[in-house]
Amino acid sequence: MAFVLIILSLVVFAVLAMRESPLWQWGVAAIAIGLVSGLHFPDSGVGYGLGGGSWFLLVVGVVMLVLSIASVRKAVLMTPIYGAVKSILPKVSRTEQEALDAGTVGWDAELFSGRPDWSKLTEVRPLTLTAEEQAFLDNQTNVACSMIDDWDIRNNRADLSPELWQYFKDEGFLGMLIAKEHGGLGFSAQAQSMIVSKIASRSVAAGITVMVPNSLGPGELLEKYGTAEQKEKYLHRLAKGQDVPCFALTGVHSGSDAGGMRDIGVVTKGQWNGEEVLGVKLSFDKRYITLAPIATLVGLAFILKDPDNLLGRGNDIGITLALVPHDHPGLDIGRRHFPARQAFMNGPVRGKDMFVPMDYLIGGTSYAGQGWRMLMECLSTGRAISLPAIGSTSIKQTLRATSAYARVRRQFGIPVGIMEGVAEPLGEMIKRAYTFESARRLTASMVDEGQRPAVIAGLLKYTATEAMRDSMDDAFDIHGGRAIQDGPGNYLFGAYQALPVAITVEGANILTRTLMTFAQGVLRAHPYLLKEVRAAQNKDRKAGLDEFDAAFGGHAKFMLRNVVASFLHGLTNGGFASTPNQGPMAHWYRKLHRYSQAFALTADWTTVFLGGALKRKQKISGRMADILGHLYMMSATLRRFEDEGRLSEDRELVDAIMADRIAQMERTFGEVFANFPNPVFAWAMRVLCFPLGRHAKPASDRVNYRFVRSVLRPGAFRDRLTTGTYVSFDPDDVTGVLEDAFIKVTEAEEIEARFIKAARKGVIERRLDRDAFADAVAAGVLNDNEAGIMRAADEATERVVKVDDFAADELSAPSKHRVAAADQGAKQ
Ligand SMILES: Cc1cc2nc3c(=O)[nH]c(=O)nc-3n(C[C@H](O)[C@H](O)[C@H](O)COP(=O)(O)OP(=O)(O)OC[C@H]3O[C@@H](n4cnc5c(N)ncnc54)[C@H](O)[C@@H]3O)c2cc1C
Repeated sequence: MAFVLIILSLVVFAVLAMRESPLWQWGVAAIAIGLVSGLHFPDSGVGYGLGGGSWFLLVVGVVMLVLSIASVRKAVLMTPIYGAVKSILPKVSRTEQEALDAGTVGWDAELFSGRPDWSKLTEVRPLTLTAEEQAFLDNQTNVACSMIDDWDIRNNRADLSPELWQYFKDEGFLGMLIAKEHGGLGFSAQAQSMIVSKIASRSVAAGITVMVPNSLGPGELLEKYGTAEQKEKYLHRLAKGQDVPCFALTGVHSGSDAGGMRDIGVVTKGQWNGEEVLGVKLSFDKRYITLAPIATLVGLAFILKDPDNLLGRGNDIGITLALVPHDHPGLDIGRRHFPARQAFMNGPVRGKDMFVPMDYLIGGTSYAGQGWRMLMECLSTGRAISLPAIGSTSIKQTLRATSAYARVRRQFGIPVGIMEGVAEPLGEMIKRAYTFESARRLTASMVDEGQRPAVIAGLLKYTATEAMRDSMDDAFDIHGGRAIQDGPGNYLFGAYQALPVAITVEGANILTRTLMTFAQGVLRAHPYLLKEVRAAQNKDRKAGLDEFDAAFGGHAKFMLRNVVASFLHGLTNGGFASTPNQGPMAHWYRKLHRYSQAFALTADWTTVFLGGALKRKQKISGRMADILGHLYMMSATLRRFEDEGRLSEDRELVDAIMADRIAQMERTFGEVFANFPNPVFAWAMRVLCFPLGRHAKPASDRVNYRFVRSVLRPGAFRDRLTTGTYVSFDPDDVTGVLEDAFIKVTEAEEIEARFIKAARKGVIERRLDRDAFADAVAAGVLNDNEAGIMRAADEATERVVKVDDFAADELSAPSKHRVAAADQGAKQ
């Protein structure tokens, strides 16, 4: 009987927790169980009467009922808790608040909730381009790509060719985000992302050049906040490339901490066009500014002060943005940095006591002091599109090149790609290519729906660019010396050099991973935390207490549900978790739900336990960001599989991606628990989330090897994995040479097998001083036609494996030129 009652109580309390039931229902349940447990039927001998346990439940139930009366609860319980947590909860500064307000939450909040509403994933629009966008991608973008010679850009000119610059300007590449009514192309985020992707697959420098004006910069700021006159004056010119923009936020002393800038504007009166007008005297020292050396319109961020209260808003106005023409008196612009030896334009922008009239402020005086919010709003969308586009395209491009090379290049008589040691990194490249294209698409679609997914943007930026670094390393390892010898024929080196650029810009990755994604993201995406923080910071104590009471109550129910649901999903390995459909991926959706539940509990406890210290406990918050990253990548991968019609050819790959991500996630959970500052909490989280332990296994070697064999031949699988990259079949093109050889070698496969057999038997011999194919014909191994096919494949292979060499003075010439330029700079 006692055992039955204990089980009954647990079931009832579990149901209440799972339903996030209100306090009075808990009270009623406790009293009911207390009474039932106290029943005693002397005739039948059943029951014991009211014992200690029954009384306990009765008392707890009554207390709960009393506390469910709001006025009593607030007076007795919430007031002391409210006072205590005010000092524990993280403080939100004004800049943080503006950053928080600038973004929206969507699928990320579902993952934080532990009980995802699948419609937030399944109803995001699929990849859609208008006919005009598709035509631009197929025509103008391909033409631009065919004009790109990356070696010429990065080695000879340290700039794009004049023809390419002109083409970009004439065709509107620099004004893709500007609305049609202002002369721009008015393209969607998806289209911009795909156009930048294709160009970057040809040259990262060219990709960045197109990306920047379409990301955070004057165009977007003017579109959103510009006055009518500013829009009229600049947007048309920007859209047509008559003005080239840059945006200067980063200062010498303010990199990641952009809000801590020392660049100052002081409201004052000054002379402008022969009249005395109200304006701003600016002193600034900006650096790393992309496009600055050739920009004609400079966006500037600075802190505005008004010591004489000329605007009537006190001394501290706050971060403010202005637009200044490049030839404005006092603007020092034109010098170049040389970032990672990449050729895109980048340089410093300086000014001292430079006077600008008030109408240079973006949005005019009414937007003075709103700069941080304006930047954050633009950055959260820009970051979601631009760097993920560069990252995913680089991952796809390196796979396309490496798969062809690994098939064409032979050592020990076989293609290097079929050797298991090579197949291992190639398999990882395949999985990254599918996953990050999935995430790129999904995120761009979210932006097109009007979301400003700040947490996802940060997460995707760092994961995509880190995955790009991994894929590039793998590509280099597989290519061996062919990748390392730079020259006009090296199709990897430019992108390799550019890796640190993508990792540093738009929020350096360490910061993005360890601070922004989780430590700041949890405030946005947690269902109750921000409400509690806001309530704790409310200056009106009574209103704050009311808000806190509501948020805290919700949070307590959320915690109880997390405890029960995590444990049950852990026990059943997600077997009863939800899924949006019963298709072939239903079990992975269930797993995604199960692990998001474990994440919700761990995220919640981590935040509650660490409070404001979370921003310093970056190893924990970085790992939590990684777990969120795995959950997001799994979501995006499943979504792509559905969107592409559940292709049976991709099923095993998606299964492998899911298995790998879960195994990595379990490892990372383990690291969070092992390093959690409080061992009791760590133990409880481990038991609740993984009651049966962590046993997930990644995809097997055998399965991985099968994907590799599939990309070692031309076909739809390889094309799908590398979709959106620029592909040439021209043997004289830097990457076309690979595709050409790949096809010819594949076509010659059967004949080649016979040829190799004969060579092994010693019938023919491959030597530089003999024509082995003529020998093979003479020996009756091949006929003339077969020898022709083999010769074509062999010549194509020769072109692929060849590397560049130079006359000694060819290499010293450019460096002499650089030394001269540096000398001249030093004299100035
Ligand atoms: C090629 C290039 C182009 C750029 N283009 C522009 C542009 O057009 N306009 C513009 O305004 N800016 C631009 N930037 C600036 C870029 O956004 C900054 O470089 C970036 O914000 C990092 O600043 P920093 O390089 O000074 O690094 P620092 O801020 O000095 O950071 C050093 C290291 O410390 C880490 N770190 C800093 N704070 C924290 C923290 N709280 N927690 C954990 N880690 C932290 C960083 O992640 C980094 O690893 C560009 C930069 C480059 C390299």
